[in-house]
Parts: sequence; structure tokens; C-alpha cells
Amino acid sequence: MKSEAEYSSHGIAVSPGIAIGPAYIIGQHGVPVPEYDIPASQIDRELKRLHTAIAKTQKQLGQLKQKAATLPAGAEDVALLLEAHQGMLSSSRLVHGVEELIRVNRLNAEAAIQRQIATIKASFAAMGDPYLAARADDVSEVGTRLIRHLLQQHYNPFDAVSDGSIIVAEEITPADMALMDPKNVAGFITVLGGAEGHAAIMARALGLPSVSGLPDIMQQAQVGDMIIIDGRKGDVILRPSAETLHYYRQELTKKQREDKKLWALRETPAITADGTPITLCANIELARDLDAAIEAGATGIGLLRTEFMFMNRPDLPSEEEQYDLLRKLVHRLDGRPLTVRTLDVGGEKLATALGQVIGESANPALGLRAIRLGLKEPKLLETQLSAILRASTHGPVRILIPMVSSVAQMKQVREHLVQVERRLHRRGIKFSGLPPVGAMIEIPAAALAADALARVCDFFAIGSNDLTQYTLAIDRGDERVAELYDPFHPAVLRLIQFTAAAAWRANIPVSLCGEIAGDRFATALLLGLGLRELSMAALRIPAVKQEIRDLAMPQAVAFAEAVLGQSDEATIRGLLHRGVGTSDELAKEKRKKDK
Ligand code: PEP
Ligand code: MG
Repeated sequence: MKSEAEYSSHGIAVSPGIAIGPAYIIGQHGVPVPEYDIPASQIDRELKRLHTAIAKTQKQLGQLKQKAATLPAGAEDVALLLEAHQGMLSSSRLVHGVEELIRVNRLNAEAAIQRQIATIKASFAAMGDPYLAARADDVSEVGTRLIRHLLQQHYNPFDAVSDGSIIVAEEITPADMALMDPKNVAGFITVLGGAEGHAAIMARALGLPSVSGLPDIMQQAQVGDMIIIDGRKGDVILRPSAETLHYYRQELTKKQREDKKLWALRETPAITADGTPITLCANIELARDLDAAIEAGATGIGLLRTEFMFMNRPDLPSEEEQYDLLRKLVHRLDGRPLTVRTLDVGGEKLATALGQVIGESANPALGLRAIRLGLKEPKLLETQLSAILRASTHGPVRILIPMVSSVAQMKQVREHLVQVERRLHRRGIKFSGLPPVGAMIEIPAAALAADALARVCDFFAIGSNDLTQYTLAIDRGDERVAELYDPFHPAVLRLIQFTAAAAWRANIPVSLCGEIAGDRFATALLLGLGLRELSMAALRIPAVKQEIRDLAMPQAVAFAEAVLGQSDEATIRGLLHRGVGTSDELAKEKRKKDK
């Protein structure tokens, strides 16, 4: 029976803001299924297709179960449900029925599954038992998973999302984010996912409130339920009472008023109160984000994550296709620099066409990914470099290499670049000079070797997201350890300071493009640590600019010193929230103690 009662849940605050809207539950909207007859000679092949899909679904459910099992309250129910779903895939009425439909009726596997689901549902419904009716939904869910694997193509689960919906899903991937039209979405709530994964970054970039780590949300939410997300605190309310709704509507209006005030700053220069100019760039994950970046007053793109070009497709993009896209971005930027990061797949970021090459790894975050993959698959890297070089003839472009851990890797990249340039030269494409080539500093080894790397790099971009992950050995996308993930851990801050200092010594530019660049509470600290360029989600630029304009550099330096003098993250967070004034208080306290 449909519940009417208000229901609250608390999870991980992934993307701030308040959203109010009707639920759109992923997985409860059908997949279009083709139906055709198969010849007798193809029956074995069709059965094999079915069993491959069953194996993949089993594996997917196993992974979900493993993740869900250690979530807080309510997790056992989810784990049990997923286990029941796994049970439906072995020697069950669903599987036997489908096999028979393939063998006897010579139906393709997808259509056979759909027909068998309908048969089971009809027989359960005839018994008039509410428990069995719920099991029929489970059969349907498992069947839909199987069909998706069989189709092996990304269908767009967001096609039917209507204006202002709140997406409710087990998990949202970066590829899903690329498929949806953000204009129709008000926010997301999910069972799985941490605050630092790429889908989370994309939600923040779009300014869409989001909460994850909600184990029972798929069971509690019903299609069309009104939902409130408070992404600042990680709260979610289903079917709110009139009183609750009134409170959040007021909060939403307040927030919109504040945002409007900040937005007025977008044309104002980012200069500290004592006259130090700071460069504020935007990170973009999808080509469609560029307009928002320009509107928010970004002076360039500090990080273009090129992974989107490889998502939601079975093949690799050609050089021409990549060039075409980059050229359009360069033109649209109209003289503002574009920093193109070479492909950073592997780890949590996947591209279908590279699945075979990357393969399985016990530790994907430590495995074949980013530039390691590029150097192993030179054609992949050179195709991309060629497209970037060609785009650089239309405006200022910088090349950024992800996951660099050694000087040798940068030297190898430069050798590939020279090869590519020569080849382009032979094709009659000429350059006035090669674009600057820089390294992402996101592995502790790279930060500690920053002096040596600075000799082979034209610039650095500090990736504090991965730098935190690898320094603290915390999987950034795993909600179970999300509370241990802290970019303000003193060890991470020291590596940032060390990198910035090495860049200054070598006289090369250094920026920071991890998520903390867009955290206004971190602005004074980052400036005090030596950064003069920050790249962030476009929507964060005005608030960070406001901080910069209220700040004098000596204050920022003293504040960073005070922060680095602390030994634990909790005290550091406290200082960041109390603001730069605290460094004076601390200095006074210290003087008192010293007397
Ligand atoms: C980072 O690691 O901080 C970064 C900016 O790159 P990504 O988040 O894409 O890994
Ligand atoms: Mg990174």
C-alpha cells in the first residue's frame, strides 16, 4: 500500500543546496525491448547470450551487495534484497521459463525475459497476496537488469524525466550524468556513492543538490512522492508534511537570494583587498558546461576532463571528432585559455571501448589508468595529442597530464608530442610553438618530487581530490570510508604547500583544481599556501571571489601558518570555519604561552 507518512533519512552530503520536487525512480521505467524469431541453428548461441548476461548481473548484484552491506542503518535489508535477487538468477522459475521460450518458441533472449516476467507477474497477481505482489516487482527488477546487459547498449534511463524531478537511484555514474538533461532534474538521492566520486563532482558543477549513502531509499520512495533534499546537511525527507514543506520553501528562497547577491560579482575582478590578482578558472566535465563557466566569470578553463568524449559509446572517438569538439570550445572561449587534460580513465572512471585494454584489477585506483594507460597504448595518447595540437592553432591551449608519478613519464609524453607534431607538419599543419605541457600533481610521489618535475613541466595543476585519496589511502568513491576522506589533513596540506613552493622556485605557474578550490572556507588557506590560480566548478566562482576581495595577503599567509601549525584535521576544520581572524587570536595565545 502507498505510504502517506513523512519519512526522513540522513546520508552523506554530496552537493549542497535545497531541492524540492517529485521522485523519479531509476529502474522503474521500462527498457525498450526488441522482439524477433531466431533460427534453430542459433538457439545455443542465444542461450549462451542469456547465460553471459546472467553472469554479469550476478556479478553486478554481488558488487552492490558488498557495498551496501556495510552502509549504516537499514543496510541489512538492502543486502538481503540483493541476495534474493541473486537467488532469482540461479535455477529459478524466471531462468527456466526464459530458457524454454528460447528453445521452444525460438524467441530472442530479451523478448523471452520480458514475456516470462509478464507470466510470473500474472500468476502472482491471481493469488491476491500482497507479499507475492512485492516479489513480482523484484522479478521485474532482476529481469530488467538482465535485459540491459543483453542489449549491451546504454539506453537513456533519464529520457522520461520531467521538469524539476528528484532522481532516486541505486547509483549514478558519470556516464549517467552525461545522459541526463540537467534542466529537467532538481537533485539526486542514491543508495551508493561517496562525496568525492566523479558523479558527485558533476552534481556540484551543475549546482544540483545531492545526498548519497541512503540504504533504504529505493524501498521507501514511491513514484511521484514529493521529496526534499537538504544537500548542506545530508538530509532527505519523503512525503513532507505541510509544515516541513513550508520551512524548506523558505530556506530555498533565502538561498536563492544569497546566490543572486553573489552572482552580481561575476564581472568584478578577483583581487585581494591589498591588490594581489588571483586567477579563477572553471573545471568542466562536459562540453555543455562551458557556457555556465563563461557566465560565472571564469577567466579560462583550468581543467577540461576529456573523459566525457569516451563515455556512452562502444567505440573510441576519432582524432577528427576530438579536434572538432576542442576547436569549438577554443572558439567559444574567445582568447581565454583552455587546459585540456589527456584521458584519465581507469579507476572509477570507465570507458566501454577501453574495458578490454584496462581489464580487471584488484586495485583499480592503483592500476592501469590515466597517463599509465596512455603510455601503454600510444595510439590512444597520440590521437588525443594530435587533436589537442590542432585545436591549439585556434587559440590558447595547455596540455595537462593526469596521474604523473615520475620525471620519465613526462619525458616520454614530450617524445610522443614531438612525434605527433612532426606527423602534423607532414600533413601541412603548422604551429607557432607547442602548447605548454603540465603535470597533475595528485600522487604524493609527484608532490615530493615536485622540484625535479618542475624541470620537465611548463606548469603544475594540483589535483587535491586524488592527492587526498592517495596520501590517506582512502577510496574517494567509497561511501563506507567517506568520513575518513579529508583534504584538510595536515599531510595533504603539507604536500600542497611543498608543490606550490617548488613551482615558485622553478618559476612555473601552479594552480589547484581539486574540489577544495571551490570551497570558500579554504580560500584564505590556499592563497596563504602560495596559490594564485584556482580552478573550480563554475558556480563556486562568485563565492570564492568574495572571499578573495575581503582578504589581505599577509592575513592569508599568517592564517596558513596557523593552520599548518595544527596536528589534527578537526582543529583545522574549526579554524577554517572561524576564518582568518583566528590566526590573530592564535598568535596572541602563543605569545601569552611563550611569556
Ligand atoms: C583531482 O584529482 O583533484 C582532480 C582534479 O582530478 P579528478 O577529480 O578528475 O581525478
Ligand atoms: Mg585526479
